[in-house]
Amino acid sequence: MDTDNAKQKDNHNKLVGLQAQIAQCRLCRDTFGFEPRPIIFGSYHAKIMQISQAPSKTVYETGKPFNDASGRKLRRDWYNITDGDFYHPGHFYIASMAHCYPGKAPGQGDRRPPKICAQQWLFKEMPLVENEIYIIIGSYAAEMLFPGEKITALAFEDRQLNGKPAYILPHPSPLNMKWFKDYPQFEKVRIPLIQKEVHKILGIS
Ligand code: SF4
Repeated sequence: MDTDNAKQKDNHNKLVGLQAQIAQCRLCRDTFGFEPRPIIFGSYHAKIMQISQAPSKTVYETGKPFNDASGRKLRRDWYNITDGDFYHPGHFYIASMAHCYPGKAPGQGDRRPPKICAQQWLFKEMPLVENEIYIIIGSYAAEMLFPGEKITALAFEDRQLNGKPAYILPHPSPLNMKWFKDYPQFEKVRIPLIQKEVHKILGIS
């Protein structure tokens, strides 16, 4: 028991220290062409570690993760939980491949998340969070964590990551409407299953 407490305290201290370093990070300033704003949310004892791609412009402007149309679909339609249950640091550790909004790409959508961020920060955060499951969001994050595999298959499979259950979701962005139309079974079959798992882990009846 004492060993468990000491490990938890150690993880807490290391993660708080790491988050303070992430908050100061400006590595991508020249690539972005504007001031990066790292978004950080969650604690070492979060039950679910959610890993997505990168914050949107709205998140960059407000500083609150998933505070946009994608987040509303994720929380309300897919997880079917309250904002209070989502923005609870003991429930979700809200991480992403890149902590900062990367700017607009030519045409629709945002630039790809800079790969350097995961090496620099995410892979150091992951072992410090004592999550029960992972939820991976979007094709870039899925391809990074499951190299060589496609989200069209991953989204329909129960997988493992670091020895824990992992569920892979397509990005809930309105720009992804075609994917939802092409794969209607995802929302019909997979979402109820993932929703049930989220409720079970968070103790929502
Ligand atoms: S995206 Fe990551 S590596 Fe780049 S500035 Fe933000 S925190 Fe630093």
